[in-house]
Amino acid sequence: MLFQGMKELKEFCIPFSSLKLGPNFFDFEIDKSFFDIFNYSRYNSCNISLNLEFRKENLLMDLRFSYSGYCEVFCDRCLDLVKVPISNNFNCLIKFLHQEEEIIKDDIVYLPEESFEYNIGQLFYEYFLVNFPKRVIHKKTQCNSKQIKLMEQYSQKQIGKEEDPRWNILKGLKNEN
Ligand SMILES: [Zn+2]
Repeated sequence: MLFQGMKELKEFCIPFSSLKLGPNFFDFEIDKSFFDIFNYSRYNSCNISLNLEFRKENLLMDLRFSYSGYCEVFCDRCLDLVKVPISNNFNCLIKFLHQEEEIIKDDIVYLPEESFEYNIGQLFYEYFLVNFPKRVIHKKTQCNSKQIKLMEQYSQKQIGKEEDPRWNILKGLKNEN
């Protein structure tokens, strides 16, 4: 599958056919514009350094990623920004098969035999998202208490305005009888 952001991800393309055997090192700076390419907008800002050790061997490539930095997201409790420190690493292998399409299975990327380059952009993006915390909140005392109060007041007003949904469930049960 050809991803339409590939052109913008050009800098993440590793032309492995021209690399020397053994370890090769690459550094990337990831900021908000990287996630914009994927139309992913959860990070208000971010600054991640990604290091890749790309070990070229005769029949396969051994990729070792490590990254660290921070992402700024909105707190799930008070909606103020929280800076989330990031530090992680993962490995994958590239192998070659007699086929036309790229396949990814169990941390192994299978490329068509005639491939000479590989773009790590999407692989990194997917790994990063899966490993980013689903829910982010400030540490106990750091939430914006003013804002939480406002939100509580607002939601109480909403409950006052509308009928309690639990009544509708009870009504439904009544009608069935
Ligand atoms: Zn908060």
